[in-house]
Amino acid sequence: MRFIDLRSDTVTKPTEAMRKAMYEAEVGDDVYGDDPTVNELERLAAEITGKEAALFVPSGTFGNQLALFTHCQRGNEVLLGEDCHIIAHEVGAASVIAGVQLRPIPTNKGVLDPSDIEKRIRGVDIHFPDTGLICLENAYSNGRVIPLDNMKEIYTIAQKHNIPVHLDGARLFNAATYLNVSPLEITKCCDSVMFALSKALCAPVGSILAGSKNFIEKARKKRKLMGGGLRQAGILAAAGLIALKDMVGNLKNDHLNALCLGEELSKIPGIKVRIDDIHINMVFFSIDTKLEDNTIVNKMMEKGIKINGTENNEWRFVVHYWVSREDVDFIVATLKDILNM
Ligand SMILES: *Cc1c(COP(=O)(O)O)cnc(C)c1O
Repeated sequence: MRFIDLRSDTVTKPTEAMRKAMYEAEVGDDVYGDDPTVNELERLAAEITGKEAALFVPSGTFGNQLALFTHCQRGNEVLLGEDCHIIAHEVGAASVIAGVQLRPIPTNKGVLDPSDIEKRIRGVDIHFPDTGLICLENAYSNGRVIPLDNMKEIYTIAQKHNIPVHLDGARLFNAATYLNVSPLEITKCCDSVMFALSKALCAPVGSILAGSKNFIEKARKKRKLMGGGLRQAGILAAAGLIALKDMVGNLKNDHLNALCLGEELSKIPGIKVRIDDIHINMVFFSIDTKLEDNTIVNKMMEKGIKINGTENNEWRFVVHYWVSREDVDFIVATLKDILNM
């Protein structure tokens, strides 16, 4: 049975072209630096982000935590949005790995007020932790894209105070697609960036951390410390190369499908869609119904549609490469039927 899987864009399975490239990939031992396919992926990733160097890492969480670990000293303070991924969805790793203190800043739907950041940068005092890093996130976990001007303003403040900026760009290419700019325009506003190959771009595993040559050299050693030294990783990098070369162009279509899904769902009585928040491939909505979450999840599953239950009373449907325009119609019709029962 074919399933339509709306739980996340991490569910995107590799394409035929990826499977073939993986099979045929030329590989070496990447810890010795001689896996040609990994080297090519890292070269291309550095070029795309406009950074001197890049490093292939097992996951987005790994890449973010490695960035914190490399930028910061133990006891440093990191400034970041209170609802961002590093705070909410990385298992508290920053306290375990980098040994840093996270200082959450309220956001307006993911947008940080630059003055809120500047006033929290620590001065010199024997009691204070040193501000070691500012983390931004774009696209934001709430499905919205942060305006470039806001990022620029924050980056200017960071540079003035000599504090590095790390960008959690798990969905960097979705953000660039929405803004209709080259990813370079976004990565100009940070010193290091993590982006995912395994979200929406269909690669099976892996993310990239990019930054200066010196930063990536240090990160490479710390990646080893974290148990992330990979051997014949060219098998995975081969799919990553296709993700970057052939899959980014499809994101526009995902975004159109998300908008279409949002518009059609909002026509169903009892459903309230956050239509203005559909910037990328995610649709958030609430349902006014007596049905339990589990009933809806199970009934959708019976029709071949996989969804997660609500978080904070909201449903999130994520569309991606393996969800077509026809699937969108089927999803809407199915949910409508379930709610009418
Ligand atoms: C998914 C995600 C991550 C983590 O990526 P994993 O590969 O799941 O570890 C980090 N940041 C953001 C914004 C994400 O959406």
